[in-house]
Amino acid sequence: MSTLKAVRGTRDLLPPETALWNRIEATARDVFARYNFGEIRTPVFEDTGLFARGVGEETDIVSKEMYTWEDRARAQSEKTQSLTLRPENTAGVVRAYIEHGLGESGLLQKLYYIGPQFRRERPQKGRYRQFSQIGAEVIGPPSAGSESPLRDAEVLEMLATLLDELGITGWTLELNSVGSAADRARYNEALRAALVPVVGQMCGDCQRRAVTNPLRVLDCKVPADQPIIETLPVIADSLDEASRAHFAAVTAALDAAGVPYTRNHRLVRGLDYYTRTTFEFTHGGLGAQNALLGGGRYDGLSEMLGGPRAPGIGFAIGEDRLVLTLLAALNEKSAAPQVLADAFIAPLGDKEKAEELIKLNAAALVLARELRHQGLWIELGEGSFRLKKSFEAADKTARQIVILGEDELQSGILTVKNFSTGVQTKVPRGELAVFLSQ
Ligand code: AMP
Repeated sequence: MSTLKAVRGTRDLLPPETALWNRIEATARDVFARYNFGEIRTPVFEDTGLFARGVGEETDIVSKEMYTWEDRARAQSEKTQSLTLRPENTAGVVRAYIEHGLGESGLLQKLYYIGPQFRRERPQKGRYRQFSQIGAEVIGPPSAGSESPLRDAEVLEMLATLLDELGITGWTLELNSVGSAADRARYNEALRAALVPVVGQMCGDCQRRAVTNPLRVLDCKVPADQPIIETLPVIADSLDEASRAHFAAVTAALDAAGVPYTRNHRLVRGLDYYTRTTFEFTHGGLGAQNALLGGGRYDGLSEMLGGPRAPGIGFAIGEDRLVLTLLAALNEKSAAPQVLADAFIAPLGDKEKAEELIKLNAAALVLARELRHQGLWIELGEGSFRLKKSFEAADKTARQIVILGEDELQSGILTVKNFSTGVQTKVPRGELAVFLSQ
């Protein structure tokens, strides 16, 4: 029988790497809390219509990458329903905002999420079919100030803080404005006109996009098309006065806070719902998939989904890419952290005496329980191991070994060896926790 493997584009995350994932998530939760965000958890699958309407039919995600299936009816009263594994989380958050009437409080909703997303992309380093995003949304009725450029600046400043606290250095914030829906319509027309004489020399995707959604031509990655794209008009020239003023206010607040950024005129992002501010944080160490995170404003999304007017801004960080970036930095210092327990408890018994062994192992469990309850990280050996085997196992998993034999049990004095100093010490049981934690 052939062995089963994780599906292409999916991966198992194993220790010690998972410790890094947990540290990233703990730091994100801590930063989000300080900016007064609360956590939202939405379902992993949703009605397909949510993404078709929210993300946009013409986007790569919806047109090529979704895991969609027809959910069979289980009873006559049920209808079949087209369901999709979420390819991103913003549409789900906005659906929940509408469904639970969160705007009725009149307050801004500041929500963050951490969880898996699914896209049928061609897997490569930093690009998977199941990946994890850490994201946040600020959304609310206009009366709550949800349209204010201050919200954009606050979100970007928070991201700079988060990356800094994670220890990610060398990131670049690329910023642009895609304007209002009207600005984009104007820009689409300008692009359409500019594309007429040149589109015949471009790739098949661009030829299709030139007709259906010219803005998407700017996402094209085909090298031969790039010189042509460089000659196309930029969206900045199609922005109206209000959109220009909004963008200027965002950059003024970023300048005041000392958050560095560069303007990237081609940053229109792959999702249809963006309006005004769009951004990406990139990192040179990531190679071809260099976007650490992306986001932007989506002032019309709630209405597109049948909800009330609720402007918002949000982002999604690729957690897998944060991990890659941090692992690369650790490897450079050749100091991949090995997580060691404080102590390994080695019960030492006589293999032949089954009853004695049972008693000794039980005593070792009790000692481990005492120490663990006092906050120590403890690995527990096994009484039938020979001394050499206990030492070998302990050396790989813990900083110290505690020997627990019949004599130690009787006397209450335990032998502790510290692997880094090589020093062996006799320690009374009552003082053991303090000694081991030093
Ligand atoms: P998007 O939702 O496309 O704006 O993506 C936001 C961020 O999620 C990107 O900047 C990446 O860091 C990450 N991301 C998107 N797609 C993938 C993927 N297939 N594998 C890993 N990370 C991804």
